[in-house]
Amino acid sequence: MNVPRNFMPEPDCMADRVVLVTGATRGIGRTVARDLAKHGATVLLHGRNAAALDSLHEEISGLGPEPAVAQLDLERAQGDEYRHLTEQIEERYGRLDGLLHNAGVLGDRSPIEHYDIALWQRVIHVNLNAGFILTRCLLPLLGRSGDASILFTTSGVGQRGRAYWGAYSVSKFGVEGLAQVLADELENTSVRVNCFNPGATRTGMRASAYPAEDPATLKRPEDLVRPYLFLLGPASRGITGQRFEFQA
Ligand code: NDP
Repeated sequence: MNVPRNFMPEPDCMADRVVLVTGATRGIGRTVARDLAKHGATVLLHGRNAAALDSLHEEISGLGPEPAVAQLDLERAQGDEYRHLTEQIEERYGRLDGLLHNAGVLGDRSPIEHYDIALWQRVIHVNLNAGFILTRCLLPLLGRSGDASILFTTSGVGQRGRAYWGAYSVSKFGVEGLAQVLADELENTSVRVNCFNPGATRTGMRASAYPAEDPATLKRPEDLVRPYLFLLGPASRGITGQRFEFQA
């Protein structure tokens, strides 16, 4: 599916919405977090690095409602850290209106035969298992919103496998499966679940995957703001279980 061509976000289209963005310290997540705030959202900025989160908080404060920081290392966090984060959100906001699963790692571009086993497990954990755990913890708070959106980030290798994309590709297949199962379970509730493939975008991850590519030939994270505002905001109410693609 594509975002309707006639969708033009109003300046306050995210007003009164509390949205958690994972992997907000760099790349697509950082830009989307900034724009959600500019459009009126209270953004919960997730990352693992305290200094990066501080600088992001400073950058975003003043653009919109006061943002908050949610520090959690998705590779290492244990149950009590997820519980602590959930309790903090509950105490401060009482609900959650949006959850953008954006954080991710590329892993290695290598054949399965040589793929490092520990790295495989880390990639699957960060890209897939951590998204499941976070979703499971936050579902009660999402249920308290009258209009909540869970958005998973997939990839061009999340529906058809391609050589040397290893754990990254397999994790994105898993993400799409998780989104479909969840969307089906939450049908007829106020929580919608969709996937979005941002497509080739000028970030650190893309540069690691394609080191010889000229980044200037790629769209910037800023070019993705419209679909994220559509999918996380009230405009996509009622749409669930879908996979969206970026369209220029
Ligand atoms: P980046 O590598 O630029 O950013 C990834 C983000 O995830 C960073 O904020 C990073 O934090 C965070 N992250 C990684 N590991 C952890 C962890 N263990 N705990 C907490 N946070 C972590 O990637 P992009 O912006 O390019 O990608 C964003 C999403 O879009 C990903 O899901 C990716 O798969 C997807 N995507 C990207 C495409 C592209 O062309 N760029 C194409 C298709 C999909 P830190 O700074 O601490 O490392």
